[in-house]
Amino acid sequence: MLPEEIAEALDLPPFRGKQLFQWLQKKQVLTLEHMTDLPASMRATHSPAVPVCALEMVKQELSEQSGAVKALFSLADGEMIESVLLRHGARATFCLSSQAGCPLGCAFCATGMTGFRRNLSPAEIVEQALRLHHAAALPPDTTPNIVYMGMGEPFCNYEAVIKSIHILMHPAGMHIGARKITVSTVGDVPGILRFAEEPWQVRLSISLHAATDTLRDQLTPLNKRYPLAALHDALQTYQQKRRRQITIEYTLLNEVNDAPANAADLASYLRGLDAVVNLIPWNPAPELPFAPPSARRVTAFAQALQAAGVKATVRKERGGDINAACGQLRAANR
Ligand code: SF4
Repeated sequence: MLPEEIAEALDLPPFRGKQLFQWLQKKQVLTLEHMTDLPASMRATHSPAVPVCALEMVKQELSEQSGAVKALFSLADGEMIESVLLRHGARATFCLSSQAGCPLGCAFCATGMTGFRRNLSPAEIVEQALRLHHAAALPPDTTPNIVYMGMGEPFCNYEAVIKSIHILMHPAGMHIGARKITVSTVGDVPGILRFAEEPWQVRLSISLHAATDTLRDQLTPLNKRYPLAALHDALQTYQQKRRRQITIEYTLLNEVNDAPANAADLASYLRGLDAVVNLIPWNPAPELPFAPPSARRVTAFAQALQAAGVKATVRKERGGDINAACGQLRAANR
């Protein structure tokens, strides 16, 4: 909740709502008894009524390779979600989940295989960031990057995701700049068009994975509802309104979508868009019938894009040793 909503919900003066918000969001103190500037009587009065914690940390794994941290959380109703903290030197990126499971069933994604359980509330989304900050013992003044690329399709839970962004950006809380936040969608056209109307510079990323409808229908079933042409139109509308470069996430699957011809299709599709491509060699999930491409095929794909004038980088994967890499989140208590 935002400060004014806390005050209203608890029938407190506005400054008390702001104090509670600062304890939770800025100082990441999640227990009322440690909020030392609240009167003891108020803490006692409101303790049972304030839903301070929405998540319980069940497990935390550290990647020896990269310093990535994967956290498994239990929600109040027993559902489970995962979130990941990635490190790049002194910087940190929090990868947050927006749903328990996912309804979209992308063919290469471990999360999609688990099916859909339910949408997360804004509190459940924001608390992932607070817990990761705490778990990694980051200095209080560290401002992380936030990516909505964990479990779920953010635009299938639009209102809660937007509310969570407002809370993360709030000056009395973590105060994360809009440009440090990225929402990633697999191509939810109505969501992209709504997002284009939001008055901020939050970044947009599209998980594309294929640039022909025949192939994309197989990899991301949402493409049957919102085919590539409709997606392209929505992205052009977004860029006309927001004037922001978009990132195209493209998972490379060996001999499925990683041939030079696929790169040519992608370069052709991106004409008319200001986009940079992030190539992600597939992270193995044993239950899925795909394989990661060889380094030679990844390089050839990237070079084909660059030769066609498309800006492309290859993502250095972090967290694969703890199944925390892109598309590997399952929320299983292994
Ligand atoms: S890739 Fe994203 S949208 Fe697709 S099934 Fe996985 S979590 Fe859902």
